[in-house]
This record gives sequence, structure tokens and C-alpha cells, in this order.
Amino acid sequence: MKALVLGAVIGATPLGAVSQERPEDTEVWEPEPIVVAPGTAGAPPSDAIVLFDGSDLSAWSNEDGSTAGWLIEGDALTVVPRSGNLRTRRGFGSVQLHIEWRSPAGASGEGQGRGNSGVFFMERYELQVLDSYENRTYSNGQAGSIYKQHVPLVNASRGPGEWQSYDIVFAAPRFGDDGSVLAPATMTVFHNGVLIQNHAVLDGPTVFIGEPEYEAHGDRAPILLQDHGNPVSYRNIWVRELEGPAPVGRDGRGP
Ligand code: MG
Repeated sequence: MKALVLGAVIGATPLGAVSQERPEDTEVWEPEPIVVAPGTAGAPPSDAIVLFDGSDLSAWSNEDGSTAGWLIEGDALTVVPRSGNLRTRRGFGSVQLHIEWRSPAGASGEGQGRGNSGVFFMERYELQVLDSYENRTYSNGQAGSIYKQHVPLVNASRGPGEWQSYDIVFAAPRFGDDGSVLAPATMTVFHNGVLIQNHAVLDGPTVFIGEPEYEAHGDRAPILLQDHGNPVSYRNIWVRELEGPAPVGRDGRGP
């Protein structure tokens, strides 16, 4: 049946018409992508917004807006346990984020109590930071999980005391005027260069207890680093803003 249909189509297309199609017809010249100088070895490319390079915490504040109180040593920023979360002074929507992190050497504590922190997009959507090197916990709560929603594809963790990296593409959710979800948030994550979240679709904001449920919010909100009581360190944090929230695809779930 398929062969018959194919035959009919070919039969209906004069050979001359096909030969008039040119390779140039499918070339796209505009718009031309802007030139960006890439960074080397994780350094920010020329169009990135640097959130932390070791010099100061001016891009960050405590959650109440007061001066951020975490510890800077060399090029690293370390959680001061129970001093509270840090958040960017600026709001972001869809972004590419590069961040390097290190669990405390010595591997004290276990499960969720070992090297716990987290990167929250829009103050709501957590990519878990945890020492998951030979440290079992629930799979949707280990390093690289989208907390309580998506298990990482693999465990690409390095050991405690070693620097690790996350490269994340976060697409902000889109809401209708009536608060309905037009497109949910998505995340793609590389952990130490290994793909661990492949366009994961979020069910809503991160919640510790119960099921996540979207609540409409603005197009931009701060990126937040979690104080979970462990002295986790961060360095080389930069972000690239992606144009607007994800477009709505035919299935309402973005492209
Ligand atoms: Mg956490």
C-alpha cells in the first residue's frame, strides 16, 4: 500500500519540477547569529552575566535583601550554615547557567545530610546539589535530581572535596492570563559534562512534601542557592539569558 502511494506521488510529479528546486532554496541567511567569544575550561563566554568570579558578592543578597553573608575564600564561595539562602539581586527567566560546586571534604553526614545545597531557578525549581559519591539516598533526591521530580539519568558525581560542574538549560514556564499553564518549565543538565537531565518537564515548583502544583508567577525571579546547613562551596557562576520563556509547541509543552 505504501509503495503504491509513493509511486502515485512520484508519478504525479514531473521530473522537470523537481530539478527546478535548488540547494539555495533551503539555505537560511537571516538572522545571522551574533558572534560570541567562547570561554575556555568553563570560563564565561563574552555574552555571559557573571554572577560570581571570586571577587565579590555584589550580584547576590540574603533572601531579605540584606548583604549576602557567605564566605569568600580565593575564588570560592562557601555556605555559612544556617545563615540563609542567597539569591541573585536580578531576576531571570530562561537561562543557560554554569556553576561549579564542591561538597565538603571528609564526607560527614549521610543521605540528604551530606553536602546538601541546591540551585533554584526562579526561586522555585531546584536542581539538587548533594554529595552523591557512595552516598545512597532516594534517587529523586540525589545530586542532579530535579528534586522529588526527576531522577538523574546517571550518577556522574565526583568525590567529596572535588570540584564539579553543572551546565543547565532552564526554560521558564509560561502562564495564561487566567493562571493556566501554557508551557511547563523544562531543564536540561550536564553534570561534569555528562547529560543527566534531558529536557525534563517539571510538574511544578519544588516541594518537600506532597505533589508539586504550578502557581502562576512573573517572567523573571532570582536564582537562589540553598543553605541546607552544610558548608558546600561554589565558584565560577555565570549565566546567559535566553530569549523569553519557551515558545508553546503544538502539544502545549514547549518545543
Ligand atoms: Mg538541596
